[in-house]
Amino acid sequence: MSFLNRVWRARASSSAETLIFISRTFTASSSGIDLHPGASFSTKLPSLPKVPKDRNVKWVFLGCPGVGKGTYASRLSNLLGVPHIATGDLVRDELASSGPLASQLAEIVNRGKLVSDEIIINLLSKRLEAGEAKGESGFILDGFPRTIRQAEILEKVTDIDLVVNLKLREEALVAKCLGRRICSECGGNYNVACIDIKGENGSPGLYMAPLLPPPHCATKLITRPDDTEEVVKERLRIYNEMTQPVEEFYRSRGKLLEFNLPGGIPESWPKLLQALNLEDHDDKQSATA
Ligand code: ADP
Repeated sequence: MSFLNRVWRARASSSAETLIFISRTFTASSSGIDLHPGASFSTKLPSLPKVPKDRNVKWVFLGCPGVGKGTYASRLSNLLGVPHIATGDLVRDELASSGPLASQLAEIVNRGKLVSDEIIINLLSKRLEAGEAKGESGFILDGFPRTIRQAEILEKVTDIDLVVNLKLREEALVAKCLGRRICSECGGNYNVACIDIKGENGSPGLYMAPLLPPPHCATKLITRPDDTEEVVKERLRIYNEMTQPVEEFYRSRGKLLEFNLPGGIPESWPKLLQALNLEDHDDKQSATA
């Protein structure tokens, strides 16, 4: 057997173990929204069935760096009572833990590259296992899958109900990444960028107000090491190369809801809820991160 073949077999068997684990975790949880085969969505397209708040939805959030996946996935997770699992956060937790993987990961993440499918699936499996032990079911995945291989593995082990693809113009994406600030104490996410793109030749303008921190966070703000202009551009390039095909993967299965963000949170959140046929009766989240 050739060397490459041996490597491939070894990799395949480790994926299979993980797969068995993820499968065990999720076959128990009930499915969320039922999509009609072949249905496809845009922000204007068909209304989805109403989702009761306690349904264990299995949703995925796709979108370029800086688009706001974390913000909207976390709000929906609060609303629907399912865990928000962001693989970027799992990677950052691993980095902060100074465990054996940390220096290897820092080198990859700080250059804007993707972590290997094996490592990311391992981190995700551990997170799911911990959630299972606490009785979690359903999820909103943010930042996973990011490659076709990850999407194929996920498809083998569970049935995703819906994939929300958030979209924003590239100039706004870069500005939002560069303006991102995180409170080193409470982890709150803020943004100091004020995005004001004028409409041209019939295309609408875009305004996104800054999301400023409260005074107790203002002195403790940090930026992500991968939010420099050079690294953000590399992350966008990698998104287009490796993750855009994942959009097509779900589009062809009738699971993709395309959502063009019309502005900041106050404009976008109600419209996103509308597109998802959800209601937020006690909307305390309308203007905050
Ligand atoms: P972004 O703002 O670029 O969407 P995230 O916070 O989701 O970033 O992820 C940060 C970094 O973690 C990524 O640039 C990548 O290195 C790594 N990462 C997160 N999720 C994945 C994944 N599913 N596959 C590979 N690498 C990932």
